[in-house]
Amino acid sequence: MTRAFRPRSLDEALALLADGELAARAIAGCTDVLASDAAAGRVPPAVVDLSRLAELRDIRTAGEEIDIGAAVTFAELRADRLVRRHLPALAEAAATIGAWQIQNRATLGGNAANASPAGDSLPVLLALGARLDLASAAGARSLAYDDFHLDYRRTALGPGELIVRLRLPVPPPGSVQRFEKVGTRSASAISKVVVAFAARRRGACIEGVRLAAGSVGPVPRRLEAAEAVLEGATPATGLAEAAAAAAAAEVRPIDDVRSTAAYRRWVLGRLVRRWVLDLTGPDALSTD
Ligand SMILES: Cc1cc2nc3c(=O)[nH]c(=O)nc-3n(C[C@H](O)[C@H](O)[C@H](O)COP(=O)(O)OP(=O)(O)OC[C@H]3O[C@@H](n4cnc5c(N)ncnc54)[C@H](O)[C@@H]3O)c2cc1C
Repeated sequence: MTRAFRPRSLDEALALLADGELAARAIAGCTDVLASDAAAGRVPPAVVDLSRLAELRDIRTAGEEIDIGAAVTFAELRADRLVRRHLPALAEAAATIGAWQIQNRATLGGNAANASPAGDSLPVLLALGARLDLASAAGARSLAYDDFHLDYRRTALGPGELIVRLRLPVPPPGSVQRFEKVGTRSASAISKVVVAFAARRRGACIEGVRLAAGSVGPVPRRLEAAEAVLEGATPATGLAEAAAAAAAAEVRPIDDVRSTAAYRRWVLGRLVRRWVLDLTGPDALSTD
């Protein structure tokens, strides 16, 4: 029998999670926990429900950032005015998670903490330069999202530690954001490849380039080689192809039931190429 706790404050939740005898697991929307535990026949001894904690539930501006509580659902994200205006790639990603039933429960913090290589919001958090506010009974800390995913389904979260908020910088004027999930169908599909891109044009130059992808290796990752090709570049013949080739070469996808490594590499390259051309116009197209 699982004991269920619904704390009224973050401090109460952290104290419950720090109690070694209780061995409680945090749940938010419970969409991953239910699916993975039921499939494995596991019953957690206790659960701590984060879904009603005020500290984890709102979306607000704070200076030059947009702060999103970890227990905000994808349905809330895709409908939110601030997110749609400043973080359209995140709104778009939210709209591709499962279907409405899942989006009504699944949370942004749960997606990050679950750390599936195919988690759809994770490349967006990387591309948009997110930071995490983390807390445990031992104290609070802030972590760049770039440093969160350590290995396959292993994150920087310590025992009893929670993601409290996700902080995303408001992009400067002239920024573009792109998100694309390639799956077998448009709803309730696990991605074959999921990619996010952020950059801006300053005069003739491309800058602030952040590209990230999921389902192309054990962890979602920045595409640093492709970013290096593009950062500071001016639209030049072959730029789009060079960025696409760098992206395809730096990932380590596998063949599995959803796709092949070769297709994943190819489609990733085509998406990068298309986005570079969107940003630069046809000047960056190869004449070959
Ligand atoms: C039918 C179905 C379709 C799905 N489709 C998609 C999809 O298209 N794309 C996609 O990316 N995912 C998909 N998922 C997976 C899942 O819905 C998401 O990963 C979701 O965001 C998980 O959030 P949750 O709040 O339900 O997490 P939970 O199941 O409540 O928790 C997941 C894990 O995160 C931990 N956790 C939760 N919140 C926190 C927190 N604040 N701090 C620290 N740890 C925390 C929990 O302890 C647990 O280990 C799908 C799942 C189902 C069942």
